[in-house]
Amino acid sequence: SPVNDEIGTLVNTLNLMLSRLEKAYNELDEAYKAQRRFVSDASHELRTPLTTIRGNIDLLEKMWSQTKQSLQQDGMSIVPLSQDHFQLSKEAMLDISAEAKRMSTLVNDLLALARADAGYVMDKSKVDMLSLTEAVVRRAQLLPRQADWEVGDLAALKGIDVYGNEDFLQQLLFIFIENAFKYTPQGSVTLSVQATDTHMAWVISDTGLGMNPEQVPHIFDRFYRADESRGVTPGTGLGLAIAKWILDEHQGSVEVTTEEGKGSTFIVWLPIDFS
Ligand code: ADP
Repeated sequence: SPVNDEIGTLVNTLNLMLSRLEKAYNELDEAYKAQRRFVSDASHELRTPLTTIRGNIDLLEKMWSQTKQSLQQDGMSIVPLSQDHFQLSKEAMLDISAEAKRMSTLVNDLLALARADAGYVMDKSKVDMLSLTEAVVRRAQLLPRQADWEVGDLAALKGIDVYGNEDFLQQLLFIFIENAFKYTPQGSVTLSVQATDTHMAWVISDTGLGMNPEQVPHIFDRFYRADESRGVTPGTGLGLAIAKWILDEHQGSVEVTTEEGKGSTFIVWLPIDFS
């Protein structure tokens, strides 16, 4: 009967709405859990350097109070540190300085991602990619590295603009170069460029540690560091997560090819602005 038909349609519509609501709920729940994981990972990562700094300060305080005691006993105005204490305090201060530096990188990276999560909108304009690339190459010159650093012909970028944020685009290329340097203990790191009718690419190639292909899907996750990298090189595990955010904001993409022990190549694509 028509009434049955109408009820049937209504039930179908309700079911459809319900499954859509369910899907939206699951997505929200996922996002919420990811956010909570991020906050707990972040506080864990921040606590580690703080503990080291605290420990070293305690050590310095102890040595200092011993020095003060012997100063009172001897009535001397200058009490030289013993050779042992001198060495220990030097190491403690170097540790504090290294950890403070690590923390400051971490805090900067965390702030960038927190801003991204909060829906931060980048200022964008036409960016000349040849001069931007040259500027990053100059900055990269100053980075520590063991590998040779080769920059190919950048002419393919002549006259190419990308609609984007200059600072973030610089940071994007910098992240890939810095990683290539970090994970290439010997051999070479090469930057070259490509352009098609619609896109330009930076190609960052290294003959370094490479990765197990199974790790590749995870390297853009926050705090992910392949096992080999831990302990070997300092890092936050946030660089590529930031790179991914910057790429998404520019409708870009990245291709990764890698072989363990042989090296990796990252091809970073960005759409050309023709306006
Ligand atoms: P970080 O370098 O601070 O660990 P990233 O997010 O930049 O964090 O990179 C995540 C992981 O991806 C690194 O820990 C490393 O295992 C791997 N990785 C990134 N770039 C390279 C590279 N050029 N060669 C080998 N491994 C890499």
